[in-house]
Amino acid sequence: MTRIIDGKATAAEIRREVATGVAELRDRHGVQAHLALLLVGDDPASHVYVRNKGKACDEVGMRSTIVRHAADVSANVVLDQVRAWNADPSVHGILVQLPLPRHIDEEQVLLTIDPDKDVDGFHPMNAGRLMIGADGFVPCTPAGIIELLKRYEIPTSGKHAVVIGRSNIVGKPISMLLAQKRPQGNATVTMCHTGTTDLATHTRQADIIIAAVGVAKLITADHVKEGVVVIDVGMNRETLEDGTSKLCGDVDFAAVSPKAAAITPVPGGVGPMTIAMLLNNTLLAARRSAQ
Ligand code: NAD
Repeated sequence: MTRIIDGKATAAEIRREVATGVAELRDRHGVQAHLALLLVGDDPASHVYVRNKGKACDEVGMRSTIVRHAADVSANVVLDQVRAWNADPSVHGILVQLPLPRHIDEEQVLLTIDPDKDVDGFHPMNAGRLMIGADGFVPCTPAGIIELLKRYEIPTSGKHAVVIGRSNIVGKPISMLLAQKRPQGNATVTMCHTGTTDLATHTRQADIIIAAVGVAKLITADHVKEGVVVIDVGMNRETLEDGTSKLCGDVDFAAVSPKAAAITPVPGGVGPMTIAMLLNNTLLAARRSAQ
């Protein structure tokens, strides 16, 4: 029997837990958890993401502040906004929606965010903390994957995990987390990428596959062994015969799921976990500030 890993239900559970945590923090310590979001430009997808993040904050009783700037805003205005939030004790989490317009140096902006308010976990300080296994902020998508493995009680210790993708926001951090000697870790990790020759040789040996590639249905039934656990991070648009399109993952779900012990669907798998973990990271930041 293939288990379908339900990210939507798990994310809803986490949001309920965060709501309880937010209320507790407010009632016991007088601290109102607060996420500040900065959006630059008019990319429609970014507008939707930021709006959804703000809405998610409302739903768990968290305060959110959204500042929007036109695409031609100067880098200094952006940096000054981040610095103002760094200095503002009522702000616990800062998120700068990426991508930024070309004339703004993304790395400089991310470096300016106080690492202790960096709830996206993209600051090099948090990347370093993750690398050495110290407390910090774990990027939301890898954190969501670890949470799914935990809540579905999927053993990782001693297993062979094959991660496909080496991005700084998914592939690299999830590889590090799975390799660490900790719960939902202690796995032997292989990281595959565009330089990998014969991807299937690696994926066929995997007990756990994490696909974070961005290529629709790259992973087919031939890529996997019986009993594999598949976590599909991909969010791709597939064009159907009638010209419409639909969301699909990096894994051919229909072909792979009969061979899998457990698998995440797209949509409804990893996707909903990302915002839930952003809320969780912000609550964590607010709790740390209260201590
Ligand atoms: P990215 O483009 O930064 O990285 C893709 C990686 O895949 C690269 O490291 C590349 O080396 C590797 N790759 C590409 N083609 C390959 C191939 N044929 N064989 C092996 N490796 C290959 O992407 P990303 O930001 O990590 O995102 C990956 C996917 O996950 C995208 O579809 C993205 O939309 C999705 N995503 C989803 C969430 C979510 O919340 N569910 C969050 C982030 C990213």
